[in-house]
Amino acid sequence: MRPPENCNLCPLSEGRTNIVMPHGDASSGIVFIGEAPGEKEDLQGIPFVGKAGKILDGFMEEEGLQRSRVVITNTVKCRPPGNRDPTEEEMAACRKFLNSELSDARLIIGLGKSACKNLMGYDGRMADIVNKRTAIEIDGKMIPFIPTYHPSACIYNKSARTVLRETIRTVREELETLE
Ligand code: SF4
Repeated sequence: MRPPENCNLCPLSEGRTNIVMPHGDASSGIVFIGEAPGEKEDLQGIPFVGKAGKILDGFMEEEGLQRSRVVITNTVKCRPPGNRDPTEEEMAACRKFLNSELSDARLIIGLGKSACKNLMGYDGRMADIVNKRTAIEIDGKMIPFIPTYHPSACIYNKSARTVLRETIRTVREELETLE
């Protein structure tokens, strides 16, 4: 289910240029979920094309995972002002659109705190859960879920880089077994 062009279910509608929809190959069944569109994403209408996207692209290339083979999306489809975190209310308003992107997923990767809060209800330290596989319920179906760091957390944090690369390696290996 795609949000209507004039969606105003939450206040993020007020500042957006584009609704940023998922990008990639849904037939893989693998979905990476980030936090929210930033400035470049808002302007281009494509997720993860800014600084964090470049980091993610670099790790994917290094680990041999083609970005075009997986789906990349965000908890909310419109840019929060000043790139602040989306609120729980905004994520809840956008959740039905996210759920429709996830209903056929075989593996979901939560990139960072907002995705893990929205999908797992987890609000603790990321360090305690990264790369610990669990499962989340989407429309009555349990789907494997891997929490990990958001690429922007990797800018100054070497151990976050190691963790995220490990996540991507796992995804690449799983994708290979499905092919
Ligand atoms: S973030 Fe989601 S719910 Fe809010 S206005 Fe955009 S599309 Fe609608």
